[in-house]
Amino acid sequence: DAVLELRNIARHYREGEARLDILVDANLAIYPGETVALVAPSGAGKSTLLHIAGLLERQDSGETLINSAPTSSMSDNDRTRLRRDAIGFIYQFHHLLPEFTALENIVVPQMICGLARKEAEARAQQLLEYLRLGPRASHRPSELSGGEQQRVAIARAVANAPHLLLADEPTGNLDPRTAEHVFATLMTLARHSGLAALIATHNLDLAKQMDRRVTLRDGRIEELT
Ligand code: ADP
Ligand code: ADP
Repeated sequence: DAVLELRNIARHYREGEARLDILVDANLAIYPGETVALVAPSGAGKSTLLHIAGLLERQDSGETLINSAPTSSMSDNDRTRLRRDAIGFIYQFHHLLPEFTALENIVVPQMICGLARKEAEARAQQLLEYLRLGPRASHRPSELSGGEQQRVAIARAVANAPHLLLADEPTGNLDPRTAEHVFATLMTLARHSGLAALIATHNLDLAKQMDRRVTLRDGRIEELT
């Protein structure tokens, strides 16, 4: 079954008198282990789509299903719980907590999800080793390079073993070589853990390394070949 299913999603914004129909009839299904690139120009609605898929924002109409569960009739609390349990986010800017070490940044979300500190730390250390960041565990974000910061953000996103990974320009802030490296790490991790990933990117070379590519045209999702 699909990890993420978007059915007939519509979403508009108002800008003064103007009505912006950003999503008109967006449909998409992503299955376990599948990596999907979302490639579209700025302003096409990528962030809006990711926020709706991530239960951060509600659609006007249509249905967002996570692991086959419809979410539109859920309370905000239930949506938050489902988001924490099932969905990981990566942003263009890492949004790591500046006062915390790399390790602690990965530990905190796990403890919010109810894991004991000891187990959360073991899992965080294991992820840091896997991402070759073991020696950086006790560094704060400001002491890490851009690529290292983004790899910590990736570790944080997958620490709770989400079923769905959503990323908004995860390498957009990195130089091409670092972007390639961080992206390879992301793909390895996604395939290794069998999660479904929807990744917005402007980088066509990176998009080609994913299983499928889709775009947004006039508020609809279209497959790219
Ligand atoms: P993308 O991520 O593809 O650049 P976005 O989803 O961020 O696109 O935005 C799509 C369009 O919707 C843009 O024109 C943006 O200005 C507009 N938009 C986004 N969020 C809001 C909002 N909260 N209120 C009004 N307009 C918005
Ligand atoms: P954008 O891609 O729209 O420019 P950023 O990449 O700057 O956004 O990330 C900030 C976004 O995080 C906000 O747009 C907001 O919708 C989203 N957000 C809100 N609440 C949460 C949350 N609890 N966890 C993660 N992200 C959140």
